[in-house]
Amino acid sequence: MKSAFLSIQYFFFFLLAAVTFSSCATTPVTGRSQLILVSEQEEANLGLQAYQETLAKEKISKDPQINAMVNRIGTRIASIADKPEYNWQFTVIDNDKTANAFALPGGKVAIYTGLLPYTKTESGLAFVMAHEIAHAIARHGGERLSQQLLLQLGQQGLNVAIAGRSPAAVQAVNVGYGLASTVGVALPFSRRHEYEADEIGLTLMAKAGYDPREAPTFFERMLNESNKQSPPVFLSTHPADQDRIRKIREMIPEAMTYYRGK
Ligand SMILES: [Zn+2]
Repeated sequence: MKSAFLSIQYFFFFLLAAVTFSSCATTPVTGRSQLILVSEQEEANLGLQAYQETLAKEKISKDPQINAMVNRIGTRIASIADKPEYNWQFTVIDNDKTANAFALPGGKVAIYTGLLPYTKTESGLAFVMAHEIAHAIARHGGERLSQQLLLQLGQQGLNVAIAGRSPAAVQAVNVGYGLASTVGVALPFSRRHEYEADEIGLTLMAKAGYDPREAPTFFERMLNESNKQSPPVFLSTHPADQDRIRKIREMIPEAMTYYRGK
């Protein structure tokens, strides 16, 4: 019993050390404090590697008009994203069947051509790109990675604490912890990231001169397709429902204060 108690103490000491010595970051626009255990540079290196690996498997679009549009929007939004150290890159993936977009740490963004029928206008696409850019500058990737590291650390701490007990007990705790960590921590947090990327994205797009009122229209178009045989992939990577659209509408008056109209 005593050794288990000491192990728990060690575990919390380790946790405290991890929290104390990590960089405490703050998200832009929303000003939320974050616990991030990796440096922004490490994060960017991981992002670049994942970007190169993904793009190597895809067909890159050579369409001059689409490429010009994506780069124009991306550059305009990135210029007000206040991350001069990022090596921004915007790539169009030639795949009409995939309606998706993603951003990786360090400013690596990709748009699939299959998304364009949903974004329709330049402002619609600007919302998606601003939302993706928001994920990158708010360091959501690094935050998720840090969460996973802490969960692993938590599980290891528990394993140490129950050392000496039966393997069945160890397994039961692990399963229980696994379930709790999936439902209790991981899911609501990624939804929080989505709302936060919407809020930051709306501000960014408005500041860059794109009408934020295009955002809910884009999501309505996506949701109209969600019951079809092959719903847009964007909806599985960025879960959306009427509640999300309602929240976006609530954020629009604030975003409009930055919009000067073009
Ligand atoms: Zn998102």
